[in-house]
Order: sequence, then structure tokens, then C-alpha cells
Amino acid sequence: WSSANFPWTKDLEAKNRSKFGNRSFRPNQREIINATMSGYDVFVLMPTGGGKSLTYQLPALISEGLTLVVCPLVSLIQDQIMHLSQANIPATYLSASMEWSEQQEILRDLMSCRYKLLYVTPEKIAKSDSLSRLLNSLYSQGNLSRIVIDEAHCVSQWGHDFRPDYKNLGVLKGNFSKTPVLALTATATARVKEDVVQALGLANCIVFRQSFNRPNLRYFLRAKTKKCLEDIDNFIRTNHFKECGIIYCLSRMDCEKVAEKLRECGHRVSHYHGSMDPVDRTRIQQQWSKDKINIICATVAFGMGINKPDVRFVIHHSLPKSIEGYHQECGRAGRDGQPSSCLLYYQYSDYIRVRHMLTQGVAEQTVAPRGAYEQALKTHKENLLSMVSYCENDVDCRRLLQLIHFGERFDPSLCAKTCDNCLKELRWVEKDVTNIARQLVELVTMTGQLHSSSHILEVYRGSLNQNVKKLRHDTLALHGAGKHLAKGDASRILHYLVTEGILIEDVKKSNNIYGSISSVLKADHLKACDLRSGKCSIVLKFPAL
Ligand code: ADP
Ligand code: ZN
Repeated sequence: WSSANFPWTKDLEAKNRSKFGNRSFRPNQREIINATMSGYDVFVLMPTGGGKSLTYQLPALISEGLTLVVCPLVSLIQDQIMHLSQANIPATYLSASMEWSEQQEILRDLMSCRYKLLYVTPEKIAKSDSLSRLLNSLYSQGNLSRIVIDEAHCVSQWGHDFRPDYKNLGVLKGNFSKTPVLALTATATARVKEDVVQALGLANCIVFRQSFNRPNLRYFLRAKTKKCLEDIDNFIRTNHFKECGIIYCLSRMDCEKVAEKLRECGHRVSHYHGSMDPVDRTRIQQQWSKDKINIICATVAFGMGINKPDVRFVIHHSLPKSIEGYHQECGRAGRDGQPSSCLLYYQYSDYIRVRHMLTQGVAEQTVAPRGAYEQALKTHKENLLSMVSYCENDVDCRRLLQLIHFGERFDPSLCAKTCDNCLKELRWVEKDVTNIARQLVELVTMTGQLHSSSHILEVYRGSLNQNVKKLRHDTLALHGAGKHLAKGDASRILHYLVTEGILIEDVKKSNNIYGSISSVLKADHLKACDLRSGKCSIVLKFPAL
């Protein structure tokens, strides 16, 4: 597909220069354009900042007829249309918030092919009769040249950003079978890809994917302590003072708290979350885009469709929900290719908080069919556990850990010490910790599967605190069995048992007035048996002294 001898090649190169001001193509752009121009269905997996928009905007320009682009958010659409109109490319969108007469006028202009691109949100496809009439008649005249599904991973329930309206986009291929479809995403697990291909009806599509490694991003993980906010202030001051960044927080309250603290420290910062007035949200996003404020403390609601090129840092104040989500959120830094930092604060107890939120979120979001809820929840829990093991790993290259998750090979020497683990230059040794693991699991079961992970660790390491005494856990044979272990090592082994599903955190909302979250450890009976009987053994890497 890389040939420069297609009938459209000359036109393509000329317009890439004259309309978009690009001197050349980025990796895969030419190939993708040639494939979609040849009439094939194409699926593109390209990291954020890779240049996906060009792969449909240029074909739209050099093709007869209209390109339909399905895009999840109106803010994203407006941003794209603004860029296109600056380049004198006729593009428009249809939105429910427009006046009827305005919509009619746009529809008439679309019918007479005054526009090259039409953007719509997926709800529009599902709900608008006038849109479907328009598409039908363009199609029958041979004037529906291409259908683009942007952020295609939103189709998949297994992905980190499922949107129910995306689920029905398969009707497009069903109704307009001769029109080539181009599906684009920056999310890359094999499972999500399969799901998207199937839901969109793209059985014979050509797939383009490239490495998801982002060489200009540096990845750091730090333990989250009470001093976290001071640490963030310090980090920004030392490395990115007055530069632009995003701090992702778990809850709305966290967003406000972090923003306030940083404001006190003299940073220009605002918070951003879903329960704010839409007018305020737009204002803040614009202030940030125009560098009137430097830092936004936001929930994950902020970000999709942000293409500010010079974001210099992305900080995660708490645990992301999946490695994919994490990779994508980090990907908002350094789109311009300049060095940028990604800093993640981790504490195990955030896992319990996020898990609780997940259970609630999935319940609200999931639609039929029956069983989908359980399936989706299970997958989300697995995704979260993969994220926990990423964080618990203090030995392997962070890039390697992310890329393995996307099914990619990566030689960690290419990281060139741009992640915290590679920077440590640690030598490590493998240790068999099966026996310790057995003892921890036994402690969990013999105390009735009623206690938290921190309590189990206290007992194992021989604490005599009030709670241990009150429950008479100081009289157990395994009390203090792990006192030779460093606290960090003991908790790492316990957390490993959780990420492997041998132990399970059973998270509940307490009935007390604060509605706080509590969690007790249980054991997976079968896996615990395998461990006890020696069918499975546990070997972990530890720093060599
Ligand atoms: P994605 O959607 O994959 O995240 P975009 O389409 O937003 O990426 O492109 C990211 C940036 O790269 C934009 O600023 C865009 O103008 C620029 N870009 C895209 N293709 C090229 C190219 N061939 N040459 C130079 N810059 C490009
Ligand atoms: Zn590394």
C-alpha cells in the first residue's frame, strides 16, 4: 500500500501540502489513504498524535461526493470543523441543538454536494429520519463516498470508553454496503479490536497498526503518601513550571481539592468535572487551550477530543481503571513530539475505591442483553487488576509492561532510561515465595475471610495492635510468621495474590452514616487449593542488594 503510483497520488501530495501544510506523510498515513481510496474497509490502530484525522480528511477532499464522519462528542466535532474551515475545506455537522430551519438548510446544501464532510454524533444516526433520508439518496446517486467511525473503540463494551449509541453503528455497513468504511482508534487490545470489527460488520477489512510506544513520553510511578500534593507541586515546579498539564483525579471532590492546593502554591489551575455547568466547562477548556491557565485537575471526562499539542505533563493522582485508559490519558501529553512527563501516584487502597466506583458505574451504564452486565463488570475488574499489577511491578520497564498489554514486542533497552524502573538500574533476583503465599492465604481462610488486607498483613508481621489483640489474632500460630519480611515485600506478595485472583477483595459500602467503603479479603477456593497442593508456585522479582 505504500506505492506512490495510484491514480490519485499526485493530487494527494499536492493537497497534503497546499491544504494541510504538511511536507510529507507520517508512518502509515499514505498506506491507509491508498487502501481506503481503493475501496476497502480499513481499520486503523494508531496512537494518539499519530495523525489519524488526515487519513480521512485528505481522501474526503480528493473523492467525489460526501464523507460521513461519526464522532462521539460535539466538542470534538466543532474543533475539527474549525480546523477544516481554516484550511477552506467545506465541512459541517448536524446537531440536535440546531434550529429546525438551520438543519433544513444544511440538509439542502448537503444534498447539492456543497460540503465534502459531514460530522454527526452516533445518536443522530440512530434517531434522525431526515439524516437517513439524506444518506439513502446520496448513496443511491453514488455520492456517499466514505463512512468514517472515529474513536471506534467506543463500540466495545470491553473497552474503557463504551458508548451505547456506538453499538448500533453496524447498520451503516448493512445499509450502505458498497461504501468503504474507515474505523479509527487509539486503543489497541486484540479483544477490543475484534469486538469493533464484528459490531461494525467489517469482516474483510484491512488492518493497519503501528507501535504504541511513545518515545517522547517519560513514565514515572511514585508511592502515594500524605505528602502527595506537595510532591506534585514540587514536580511541576522543578520540571514543568508554567507549562501546560493535566492532573487526573478519581472523584469530583478530589479535583477541587487538588486544584485548590495547587492554586495556593501559586499555579494557574482550574478543576473540571461532569457535575459542573456546561458553560463553565467550556470556558475552562478554552482558557486552558489558550494558555490562560496551565493546569486542569479533571476526572477522565476531560480529554477525549483535546488536541492541544503542547501538553507537557499528565499526572494521575489516583489509579487509572485500565492500562489502555492509562496509555490513552498519558497520550494527551507531547502530541507535538517534544519530551513530556507522565507521573502516576499509586497506593493499594485506591484499588478498593476504584473497584467500588466501577461496580456502580457499570450498573448505571450497561444496557441489555441479559448477562452483559456481569460480563462487562468482570472484564472491567480484570482490566483494573492488570493496572494494579503494573503499579506493583517495580522492576520491569514501564513501556514494556504497557506494550505487552497491547500484544506488542518491545526491547526495553530502547527505553533508554525514560521510565522509573529503567532509571533505577536495579539488578534483581527471582525468589520463590510460594511458602509465604500459602501462609497468607491460610491466614485469610482461617480467620473466616472477614478481614481487610491491612489487618492480614499486621497479623502476619506480628503486630500487637488493639484490633489484633481484641480479635485474639495474636494467639494464632501464623501470628508473626512473616516478621522477617520487610513490610513492602509482604504487602507486595499479598497484592500479587490479589492480582492473580487467588485472593479477592470483596468491596462493600458500609452502612455507617459516612457511606464509606470497606473491603475484606476472601480466597478463591480452587486457586488456593492449587497453591496448597503445590500445583502452582509463585516466583517474584526482588531488587538484588
Ligand atoms: P490523532 O487523531 O491520531 O491523535 P491528529 O490527527 O490530531 O492525531 O494529528 C496530530 C497532529 O499531527 C496534528 O497537529 C496534525 O496537524 C499533525 N499532523 C498530522 N499529519 C501530519 C503530517 N503528515 N505532517 C505533519 N504534521 C502532521
Ligand atoms: Zn523503561
